[in-house]
Amino acid sequence: MSIKKIKDNVYAITDGSTRGNVAAYVLPSQIVFVDSGMHIPLIKKFREHIERETGKKASVLFITHAHGDHVFGNQIFEDCEIITSELTHEAMVDSQKNNWTPEALEEWKKNSEDPLALDGLKIVLANKTFADEYELVDRDVKVIVKRTGGHTAGSSYVYCPNYKVMFAGDNLFNHSFPWGGTPTSDPLKWVESIQEYLSLDVENYIPGHGSISGKETLEEFLAYLNKVISLMKEMIAEGKTEEEILEQADKIDYYPSKREQWKALSLKKWYEVITS
Ligand SMILES: [Zn+2]
Repeated sequence: MSIKKIKDNVYAITDGSTRGNVAAYVLPSQIVFVDSGMHIPLIKKFREHIERETGKKASVLFITHAHGDHVFGNQIFEDCEIITSELTHEAMVDSQKNNWTPEALEEWKKNSEDPLALDGLKIVLANKTFADEYELVDRDVKVIVKRTGGHTAGSSYVYCPNYKVMFAGDNLFNHSFPWGGTPTSDPLKWVESIQEYLSLDVENYIPGHGSISGKETLEEFLAYLNKVISLMKEMIAEGKTEEEILEQADKIDYYPSKREQWKALSLKKWYEVITS
């Protein structure tokens, strides 16, 4: 695990050791963490390291969205406010009931690269929610959390205008194909969210996966998404079949995905949203 100090008051782990990226914003009187990854012992170390180095205490954990690789370290922040959008909270409650069964969690544990990553895993839900936007103010420093949708309906970013940093979560994959096949993935909302990210005063974007990026990575992804959407719309207007459309969309060049099925499933989901 390598803890990167992005700038004076911002730290992140983006080397994949915690699966989903995680970050810490050090505010004047407290530390705010974003996402909790999927490696409980490393997240514990991360929290302890930042608290020791800054002499401040963790007070809040913001959750960008409901996927296991971003929330399975929540138990390390049980004494904090755990804040997320209502839709993400609902998605976690649903996953707890239907997907994160004891048997399924055993499978996750078995498939982890590090056998200790999920040892003692306990699902911890948010204890505070917001509908669309949440603001935390600590003296002269502000943290804005906003739900935009895109990767999932509840997907939110965590932006600190003072530090010019944004945690984009899984709306941004740096140099790999994003996972867009979730039931609530929406390519049109995704485009709007990336446009919004670009309009903000941000120097460092922390993606959900991959290394820290500047605006170019977002522009590249936005161009790709727009290409896919216009191709699909044109071909739909021409009366082409789903199969023909997906075949052409698959030919538009972009980074490879970490998992084989991701591209095909994402394109299929986006087609479904565009035709609905
Ligand atoms: Zn995700």
